[in-house]
Amino acid sequence: MSYNYSNDQLSKTPMKERYNVIGHDLSGEKETEAQKHIDRKKVIGTARIEGEFIKTPYDLQMIKMANDLVSSEIVNLGIETHCEVLPEQIHFLPNNYKYFKTGNRTRSGFHNAISGMICLKKESASDTAAEKVKVFKTLLHEIIHVYSFEKFYANNFEGGRINYSAIYRSGYKTNNINESDHVHFKGLNEAVTEMLTIQAIEANYEKINASLGLQKSDWNDSKFSYTLERKIISQIIEKLSLSKAVSQVHSQDEVAAKDSVGEIFEKELLARNEFWTKILKGYFTGDMMFLRELEEYFGKGSLRVLSALDGGTKDKPNVPKLHNKINERIYQFFTTDDQTERDHIAHEILNERERLKYLKSKER
Ligand SMILES: [Zn+2]
Repeated sequence: MSYNYSNDQLSKTPMKERYNVIGHDLSGEKETEAQKHIDRKKVIGTARIEGEFIKTPYDLQMIKMANDLVSSEIVNLGIETHCEVLPEQIHFLPNNYKYFKTGNRTRSGFHNAISGMICLKKESASDTAAEKVKVFKTLLHEIIHVYSFEKFYANNFEGGRINYSAIYRSGYKTNNINESDHVHFKGLNEAVTEMLTIQAIEANYEKINASLGLQKSDWNDSKFSYTLERKIISQIIEKLSLSKAVSQVHSQDEVAAKDSVGEIFEKELLARNEFWTKILKGYFTGDMMFLRELEEYFGKGSLRVLSALDGGTKDKPNVPKLHNKINERIYQFFTTDDQTERDHIAHEILNERERLKYLKSKER
């Protein structure tokens, strides 16, 4: 397959001003070369896909709205952003587009971190409010992924050739470069993406509805994704916040701490906000500091448990039941206050992961 892209297309690719690139023996020159290479990949992501629908003015309106919502969320966090997702990066495709199928499940959209391309499922004839809501929330979710922190891996091989195509970080999702089938923090990454999608929609119903010709009731049946993953992240935030609030109140002098229930409640709300803000900032800046606080509270090894959420392997073996079971256990891990139980679950989960790897190696 060959791609035709012009200089004209190159010059209108805003994306990010500069990409984060890591790798062995990367000289300044090689790094610049890697940047250019990534730029070209991003242009490839804007090339038309066979069978994709031509975008209507309404589609363009949706894309603009989604960009506006994400950038104002980022600005609210005090972060500067140089990203804008171009309409050309977004491809509306019919149901039968082959990449919507993963195993025996179909997804309504996905994004490719290397090319910055977003593919969305769209019914050609359907123009109902329910369909509009569905497309918009998937679009927003995928656009948030594109705005998230990215780090690329450039490997400098002997003879001067560079392999640039690996993505090392996308938001919180981390690929283990040495073991190509290992992915960490996928569930955390998806949960944060979907939680921000919900936050941006809920804070802007009026704006969105006015712009897209929708009504509040059109959102009633909309189902947001990654329910269990979101529950786990909320649970973590709740536990950390309560613990922080309690220790803050207890460290005060006795007179001030007398009416401690009300005070704990107040401090807990503040702490929740702080933790959530920290998580969001890290998602866009790459800072993973808050994860340390999590490890401090839930004990050593808890990060490995969290990183296993949504499977530790990129190509899931065809056993979704096993994955659901693991995710349920991860929820219990972050719910219980009993360290012995946590240790037990961690042991079990990390063993399961080995089992998954084992099953996968048997499939080959
Ligand atoms: Zn996602």
